Amino acid sequence: MDFGLTQDQRDFLGALEDFAKKEVAPLYAKQDREGRLDRGLWKKACQMGLLSMRVPIKAGGIELGPVASGLASEAIGKADPNLATGVIVVGGLCALGLQKAAPTLQKAYLEPMMKGDKIAAFALTEPHCGTDAAALKARAVKTSAGYKLSGEKSGVSLVMPADLAVVFARTDQKAPGAKGISAFLVPMDINGVARQPLLDMGGKSLERGLIFLDEAEVPHDHLLGEEGEGFKIAMQGFDESRVHLALMCIGAAKATLDETIAYTKERSAFQRPIATFEGVSFVLAEHASLIESVRLLCYKALWMKEQGLKHSKEAGFVKALAPRLATNAIRDCLALHGHYGYTLDLPIEQRLRDILGLEIADGTSQVSKIVAVRELFGKEYLPYGPGRL
Ligand SMILES: Cc1cc2nc3c(=O)[nH]c(=O)nc-3n(C[C@H](O)[C@H](O)[C@H](O)COP(=O)(O)OP(=O)(O)OC[C@H]3O[C@@H](n4cnc5c(N)ncnc54)[C@H](O)[C@@H]3O)c2cc1C
Repeated sequence: MDFGLTQDQRDFLGALEDFAKKEVAPLYAKQDREGRLDRGLWKKACQMGLLSMRVPIKAGGIELGPVASGLASEAIGKADPNLATGVIVVGGLCALGLQKAAPTLQKAYLEPMMKGDKIAAFALTEPHCGTDAAALKARAVKTSAGYKLSGEKSGVSLVMPADLAVVFARTDQKAPGAKGISAFLVPMDINGVARQPLLDMGGKSLERGLIFLDEAEVPHDHLLGEEGEGFKIAMQGFDESRVHLALMCIGAAKATLDETIAYTKERSAFQRPIATFEGVSFVLAEHASLIESVRLLCYKALWMKEQGLKHSKEAGFVKALAPRLATNAIRDCLALHGHYGYTLDLPIEQRLRDILGLEIADGTSQVSKIVAVRELFGKEYLPYGPGRL
């Protein structure tokens, strides 16, 4: 067993840590206050390879592999978990879908996405369903020119700045559940597409929102993959993405723990540094031990993916655990900063709000356990039975 990094991985991580410190962290609070994504920062993040690292070389990406990509999620998560979520998870999921498109469309959309010139949204959730995504109602009707899409998508990240969306809609009204769903590339500037922002408590630079589709027509080649393949396309990247989200939470928690350890060594009460009180140091040691345990499970899951091994159970475990553990750690760190922790001058309150959203995104913690249950108990014990994809 080797816990070390290769020289390439160390170099990549060093460059990312530098980027996170100099370019990302200074804009973290600003984007929150303004409620907007900084597109210049997004472009720089893409130029660092944060979106193309999960795209195969044959599709124009730099294909760094799951473990190196995980290091990126953790490093950027320390400085800005929202940017990490947008570029690495949402960008990565959309890029997976777009690899099913014809080469001309990949050139027109995937290439500019990897350079940071276009932003894509991943539109699966609807107002009436998120966890039970196979119950979606948006429909796509075949026409002589292409497909007309109608319906409503809700809760979707990056809706407001998006230039395009990967939209999941039902092409077969009779096929049950997941089987009738297809995936489409939808440019956001075509007739019949409208959007509306959501007012979130955190994750503000993710600019989540709703998409309204009213007979929005796309050409035939905007169908990604085959008709009926949409749900498979939606789910194919979720295992790895869940681990990335977990590592972003871990990054945010580790940054906060480091800051808090330093603060408790500086801050005195009763003529002693507060770090010398076990009521303080044991709290931080316990959080650090839990965060490190789940961090190692994340890298095991990514290593398994790299070996071509099934890693759904591990992905479910870490997505269920990491956001909760990170939230608990950040909450205690906030309190250990006394009243300063409660101010907007420190990044702790923002991290708390942002990480709470990651507990829900890409599957809530309860639902992440369903993924683990499928592996532990068998498909017969799933809430929706064994028949779904
Ligand atoms: C920050 C953020 C970013 C997001 N980005 C996107 C995006 O880019 N694209 C997109 O399509 N969606 C996105 N979402 C939406 C997200 O995927 C859904 O919110 C999530 O899947 C849950 O769906 P829901 O909100 O409809 O809750 P519901 O499915 O209605 O669930 C409500 C509650 O019931 C629980 N529950 C449901 N079924 C079970 C069960 N069988 N057992 C136990 N508990 C259960 C859930 O865990 C939850 O607590 C985002 C959400 C957030 C918060």
